[in-house]
Amino acid sequence: MNSSNECIFCEIAKTDRVIDQTDYCFVIRDAFPVTEGHTLIIPKRHVADYFDLTPDETSDIQQLLQKHKAQIERKDESADGFNIGINVGATAGQTVFHVHVHLIPRRIGDVDNPKGGVRGVIPAKQKY
Ligand code: AMP
Ligand code: ZN
Repeated sequence: MNSSNECIFCEIAKTDRVIDQTDYCFVIRDAFPVTEGHTLIIPKRHVADYFDLTPDETSDIQQLLQKHKAQIERKDESADGFNIGINVGATAGQTVFHVHVHLIPRRIGDVDNPKGGVRGVIPAKQKY
């Protein structure tokens, strides 16, 4: 694994905060969850940009998204929707420059009107 000791996710990869892993990726809970169960799927290799991932890495991300979506639903039947998100670049809001895919469980009533979901990256354009 290429790792950067300046990188919080490379550091966390070595700890028991890892809740699951495959050959190419690992999984943690977000420390500042948007909703309960907010989970991050992260490649083991230190790489900033989602579009630089290899097919092995994106395949493991997809596998872990499916697995943890199902696991969250099993644990909490109120989780009946999800947002999946990737911020690519500071302009798009990325703050940790080691790729991570957000898996965010959604529950009825968690916001007044969820219409538009991820369109909310530009708040004035969320609802259309
Ligand atoms: P992004 O803005 O897409 O780069 O997201 C970074 C995510 O990492 C945010 O959702 C943070 O809450 C999360 N985060 C930051 N520091 C930590 C940490 N030490 N452990 C777990 N998650 C973290
Ligand atoms: Zn890293």
